[in-house]
Amino acid sequence: MDIKIETEDSHSLLEMASIGRLSDELVIRVFEEQSSIIPHIHLTKGSGPDWSFESCVCIEYNKYFVHKYKSAVIQSRSQKLNKLQMSELDSFLRSGSSISSITNWQYLLDAWNRNNVDSICKFSLTLTQPDFSKITDTQIEGV
Ligand SMILES: [Zn+2]
Repeated sequence: MDIKIETEDSHSLLEMASIGRLSDELVIRVFEEQSSIIPHIHLTKGSGPDWSFESCVCIEYNKYFVHKYKSAVIQSRSQKLNKLQMSELDSFLRSGSSISSITNWQYLLDAWNRNNVDSICKFSLTLTQPDFSKITDTQIEGV
């Protein structure tokens, strides 16, 4: 039997991949996104779905992503990273993955591909990583 835990924001807790943990218990996650054509990661603190901190960052651009369809409560939780968190995210992704010869960035791209098999966005592992140490305040909205 296939048991899924559906959360308020339509993310199944079972359908996500944890990419890594930064300091201050900030966890980089890739979810199975419903019909999302703008690939992004979630950075969360605490336990879901009521994360004490949540920020979404585009994968292809160093810009924030905002889930338009989500409730006002969740949208208000779309928080910004501080400079230290941005630098940590950038250097973590550029470093080697603990499980193979690929980088954490490539692991993240592969996790997106695996968790979003129906997405029109599939990544080659050769995609250049944006500079996440300088995430701009520009927000990209999507479903
Ligand atoms: Zn999302």
